[in-house]
Amino acid sequence: NSSISELDPDIAKVLDQELGRQRDMLEMIASENFVPRAVLQAQGSVLTNKYAEGYPGKRYYGGCEYVDVAENLAIERVKQLFGAEHANVQPHSGASANAAVMHALAEAGDTMMGLSLAHGGHLTHGMKINFSGKLYNVVAYETEPDTGRIDMDKVRKLALETRPQVIVAGWSAYPRQLEFDAFRSIADEVGAKLWVDMAHFAGLVAAGLHPSPIDYADVVSSTVHKTLAGPRSGLIMSKAELARKVDSAVFPGQQGGPLMHVIAAKAVAFKVAQSAEFKERQQRTLEGAQIIADRLMEKDAADAGIKLLSGGTDVHLVLVDLVNSKIDGQQAEDILHEVGITVNRNSVPNDPRPPRVTSGLRVGTPALATRGFGAEEFTEVADVIAEALKGDADLEKLRARTRALADSKPLYAGLEQY
Ligand code: PLP
Repeated sequence: NSSISELDPDIAKVLDQELGRQRDMLEMIASENFVPRAVLQAQGSVLTNKYAEGYPGKRYYGGCEYVDVAENLAIERVKQLFGAEHANVQPHSGASANAAVMHALAEAGDTMMGLSLAHGGHLTHGMKINFSGKLYNVVAYETEPDTGRIDMDKVRKLALETRPQVIVAGWSAYPRQLEFDAFRSIADEVGAKLWVDMAHFAGLVAAGLHPSPIDYADVVSSTVHKTLAGPRSGLIMSKAELARKVDSAVFPGQQGGPLMHVIAAKAVAFKVAQSAEFKERQQRTLEGAQIIADRLMEKDAADAGIKLLSGGTDVHLVLVDLVNSKIDGQQAEDILHEVGITVNRNSVPNDPRPPRVTSGLRVGTPALATRGFGAEEFTEVADVIAEALKGDADLEKLRARTRALADSKPLYAGLEQY
């Protein structure tokens, strides 16, 4: 029963240092967030000890009477949150949820159509050496060079030419809303199933601030840890008629025992996502992204070769295009790190620089909105980013500004260690 600092001081030190890093830096990786303390508690609980293969009421192990309650709560809450007919809360991650979706909807060798990785799609939407690219015949649609947006007439043309069994609509790096109705009618026209991967924008959907894919898609997958602000994990929702296929694709199709501690933490997160506080936070998330977009499109930034993909944003992130800037994606990531802001570099479509360097940055606002940032703080952050990316700034002065912001919005106040 030793505490972690007694039993394993090396790992205890990592936990302390990571908590310190999260507190001191401004987290702007678009796919990250800070979970409520109640989520940390559920996820760090004795539920990690329990095997529970199967589903509530239909387990292959004894002693599941309490974990069944947790899983049923997670299922019912998420169905209510999104208005879904069926939900499976067992996927360990977004990638494993997506593997199960394809397992449920297609056979190896079938054709799947998704957004190209280089244009903002996810690895699991058909990247060459991912399971998706290996098991399925992949056809990729792209964004348009002039608008940075997906042209649905071109998606339709490609679908008619290639007749996919599954069309996936979703993204990891695309700053605009998708046209779910157009995807639905294209899927109907070619007899494909429509799968929406809303990993990035699920929190916005839950708050009613982004169109919901639920009525349009046969299957919707998501992560729980991005805008939705829950534990690192995945989720699948579907129409009732696909419930059995989805459930058997997750278990036993793709996974063994579910992570019951994580499922309990998902239930907590879904409860929080139903609150007025959550909606208000998602509003600040969107407002922050808008403020950053506006600042990075001002004349001084444009003069330094900074552009935004698609010329703005409708969501929780902006994609900075540095093709014409003297600094590349790697340098931009490093400079922002030095001034106390964590982001990730990202390839832009037809990127002239190699994938490990890139000519883009993905900058997101969910974690800072959770930290309590509003218009005033986002205006200050936006200015720090613009000044840093223009080059030649006094980085120490910029670091002092981010430190003041971090101090003004303490993270996990009172928490000593986890
Ligand atoms: N789907 C999309 C659209 C994503 O952006 C991501 C993660 O970045 C995933 C799936 C995969 O999630 P995970 O990292 O939990 O496997």
